[in-house]
Amino acid sequence: MDLKGKTALITGSARGIGKAIAERLAAAGAKVVISDIMEDAAVATDEEFRGKGYEAIAVRADVSSGKDVSKLVEEAVSQFKTLDIVVNNAGITRDTLMIRMKEDDWDMVLDINLKGAFLVSQAAARIMMKQRSGKIVNISSVVGRMGNAGQTNYAASKAGLIGFTKSAAKELAARGITVNAIAPGFIKTEMTDKMPEAAREKLSDNIPLKRLGTPEDIASVTAFLVSDDASYITGQVIGVDGGLLM
Ligand code: NAP
Repeated sequence: MDLKGKTALITGSARGIGKAIAERLAAAGAKVVISDIMEDAAVATDEEFRGKGYEAIAVRADVSSGKDVSKLVEEAVSQFKTLDIVVNNAGITRDTLMIRMKEDDWDMVLDINLKGAFLVSQAAARIMMKQRSGKIVNISSVVGRMGNAGQTNYAASKAGLIGFTKSAAKELAARGITVNAIAPGFIKTEMTDKMPEAAREKLSDNIPLKRLGTPEDIASVTAFLVSDDASYITGQVIGVDGGLLM
């Protein structure tokens, strides 16, 4: 896979799945924009990447803020001249049963997970449309396709991201831009580390491949979707979940 000369912006990439995606794309030759809400974390990842010889910059941005997103995309283009790949990965959970959910927990999850992807894609699409090329990958979730008790806000945001992906794919196809989604199953990151050990073990038992996924499992599929090998794929949702949803 060769991404030399391409610029990739990955949101929420200081750690977890986003970091693994950024590293995979950088290793394939892309110039990467590490973006996260916590500046220190983004800078630390950026320094780690530069230490490995990758071309990278760190930009702090809260994806739910239109102002931050405009600055993020401006900074990426001013540093690297083009913007070829966007991965909307930033996401949070605020889990509780629907009956107990606070309005703030609903709004925050929808703002970051869904509105954030819209804001970043819109700003990036303005550049990609002029270039007449681009690849956008949205990180959804198996939960957006099958639901999960305690995650009405999260599942709604991730299901929304699937509708957004398909609609944006239809709007942007004529300009040579593909938009796809990945629906990870349960992946071993700080997000799932918050679950009790017993719950994690029970979960693994229900996964046909009998293990949680790794951030690298998601990174490799992302790398494929942003490569020329996937140039005829758009508007798709690729499940990467060990067979959890068939
Ligand atoms: P993670 O370890 O919690 O990492 C998420 C990153 O996003 C963190 O660095 C976080 O920063 C950052 N972030 C949070 N709010 C942000 C905002 N407003 N603007 C910019 N960045 C922000 O999560 P992960 O497990 O790697 O998940 C990555 C994506 O995969 C998410 O969209 C998640 O929903 C999805 N996913 C994960 C799983 C799983 O099992 N882990 C399964 C399906 C889908 P802080 O460190 O400051 O919070």
